[in-house]
Amino acid sequence: MNLRNKTHRVHIGGIPVGGGAPISIQSMTSTYTYDIDDTVAQIRRLAEAGCDMVRVAVPNKKDTEALKSILDQSPVPIIADVHFHFERAIEAIEAGVHKIRLNPGNIKDRSQVDRVIAACRERGIPIRVGVNEGSVVERQDKGRRAAQKADIANDPRARLVALMIETLEDYLRIFDENDFHDVVLSLKSIDATIVIDAYRAAAERFDLPLHLGLTHAGPPETGRIRSIASLGTLLACGIGDTMRISYASDPIDEVHDAKELLCSLALRPRVEPELIACPTCGRIEIDLIKLVAEVRQKLASIKTPVKVAVMGCVVNGPGEAEGADVAVFAGKGRGIIYVQGEQTRTVKEDEMLDALYEECVIFAERVERGEVELTSAKVNIVPPAPLPREDGSIPLTVVR
Ligand code: SF4
Repeated sequence: MNLRNKTHRVHIGGIPVGGGAPISIQSMTSTYTYDIDDTVAQIRRLAEAGCDMVRVAVPNKKDTEALKSILDQSPVPIIADVHFHFERAIEAIEAGVHKIRLNPGNIKDRSQVDRVIAACRERGIPIRVGVNEGSVVERQDKGRRAAQKADIANDPRARLVALMIETLEDYLRIFDENDFHDVVLSLKSIDATIVIDAYRAAAERFDLPLHLGLTHAGPPETGRIRSIASLGTLLACGIGDTMRISYASDPIDEVHDAKELLCSLALRPRVEPELIACPTCGRIEIDLIKLVAEVRQKLASIKTPVKVAVMGCVVNGPGEAEGADVAVFAGKGRGIIYVQGEQTRTVKEDEMLDALYEECVIFAERVERGEVELTSAKVNIVPPAPLPREDGSIPLTVVR
């Protein structure tokens, strides 16, 4: 993993973004912001799922009028998403939001942008300035539009990324002229390769914190790979200070995937159990896919990052479960459960789920009492490949 890219630090509510601060997770409500109860309920669900800050759309005055009450009830900082109407930005700032998302390109009058910047300076809140691939080409000036399109046609990816950077430079000139530097940048696209190239170029060009995102990814089923491929690549290169994965679904899905991505890249410590499971193969003798789904559901009630392995056989299972705190090796009609490498019980197939869960709960309680450390013992295969002994136990050793 590369070192984190060095960026300027801003604060969103109490949360630092940039300058090496932990990468924060954002999402956006899908409710009508003026519906205060619905919006607050969704913000609370997002916060509970691990979202650090939440953006809300404020297209109309009735939305900004709801902000005061939403802010009073929100457990996390709130960002107002403003398009076209600078008045909404001013109203949101006066209501006390913790950040504004603004695209200077869709606010016609420069003096209006200046007024928003002045209001943010007065309240000490940052502004996210973004460009989207879909709207970066000039729309009003036909001559300029034709020239840009011809340029892009020569080398679509490179020229589009260059145009995104040039557009951001134009926007940032306004902020520089106002001597305002608490700015977060985003450069979104629906294309994972453009997202990667655009953020890489921005990381080289600017020292402002970067809000990572791939836009309009679609539902999780189709958007997950594109989102994780692009954002994961950038994060692994040390690029990115805050992020939003955006899906056409319940925004909770975005937070779950963002959290898993950060945990998988060791950019955020796990606070919940980690489940590893074998992919199954021709050796499988139980319905492991069903068992894994049930285990996953049960583990949701445990709030300790226990590493749990569900393996389909004893041939490769122990090796693949190396490092798990609690593991089950399922065979025909029975399962053998190990806790930090030591066999604790052999149970019938229909008892496997409850027994595994029980062992996980007991282990988590021991961790919480400080009696045992997570992943402090490893399952290690004794060569040759292990087969069950007559009493059902597996020849494993514990490496501490
Ligand atoms: S653990 Fe066993 S059943 Fe699962 S994939 Fe490996 S060899 Fe196949």
